[in-house]
Amino acid sequence: MAKRIVSLVLAAVFALSVTSCALPSSFVRVESEAKHTEGSPASEHGTETEEKKTPSEPVIPTPVPGAPKNVCIDAGHGYVDPGCTTDFLNGQFERELVDDMAEKLKSELVSRGYNVVMLRDNDRYVTAAEVADAADAMGMEYLPEKLVDDGRFYAYNRIIWANVLHRETWIDALVSIHVDSFPEMEEVHGTRIHFCRETPYSEDSEELCTKLVEAIDGSLPDMKPRAYGEKWSDGYIVTKHGDMPSVLVECGFATNEEDAKRISDPEWRAEYAKALADGIDEYFD
Ligand SMILES: [Zn+2]
Repeated sequence: MAKRIVSLVLAAVFALSVTSCALPSSFVRVESEAKHTEGSPASEHGTETEEKKTPSEPVIPTPVPGAPKNVCIDAGHGYVDPGCTTDFLNGQFERELVDDMAEKLKSELVSRGYNVVMLRDNDRYVTAAEVADAADAMGMEYLPEKLVDDGRFYAYNRIIWANVLHRETWIDALVSIHVDSFPEMEEVHGTRIHFCRETPYSEDSEELCTKLVEAIDGSLPDMKPRAYGEKWSDGYIVTKHGDMPSVLVECGFATNEEDAKRISDPEWRAEYAKALADGIDEYFD
C-alpha cells in the first residue's frame, strides 16, 4: 500500500511538474519571460490561458480523393533556439537530433508514397511579419499579438505558418517532433505523444496519436510510449491551433541516460522514424 501511495505521489509530481524540452539555463529566462508576457505565444511547449480561438475553416485547396497524403513534419526548435540538452547527449542539442529524426521520417514517408511538407526550413527563418502577411492575405483568423519575432520560431508562429502552408498544399496531418526533459527525476523515460482533446480535429488527432503509440510499442517497446490527450488549457500550442489533425511527439527523455543513449544513436533514430511512419500508415489505412 505504501508503495502504491509513493507511486501515486510520484505520478502526480510527474504530471504536474514535467517540463518538456527544458532549455539550457541560458534560455530559461527567455522562455519564462515569454510565458508571462501578455500576448506572447509562450514557449514551444507553453500553455495558454487566453481566449480559445476556433481554427478557421480551411478553404482551398481541398483534399483530392485518392491522391497521396500530405504530411507536415515540424522539427521542433531551430534557428537560434537549440532546445534541450544534457550531459548524456555529449554536446548535442535537441535541435540537431530532431532535425535528423525529421529528415529520416521524411525519407521514410516519401519512400512510402507520401508527400511531405517540412514546416521549418533551416535555410530561411520565417519572420512573424511574413506569417502575419500570409495569414492576412488568406483571410485567416488568428491572434496576431501572439506572433513573436526574436529569432526563435515560436510554437504559435509555426502552427499559424502550418495553416498558411495548408492553404497552399492541403495537409492531412501534422507531426511535431521533440526530445523530452525532466531534470527532477532522471529515471523518467519513454515516449510521450500529445494531442488536444478540444479542437475540431481532436478525434483524428487522437486516432493518429493512438496509431503512433501502437507502432512504437510494437517495434521499440523500451520506449514505453504513452498517449496524452489534453484539455485546451493544458495542450501544447501546436496541437491546439492547427487546421488539421496534429500531434506532438516527445521521442524520449534527454535527462534519462538510457533514453539519451538511444536518441544519440543515428541507427536508433532511423528505427524510430520507421515506427512513426508505420503509425502514420496505420492512421491513413
Ligand atoms: Zn522541444
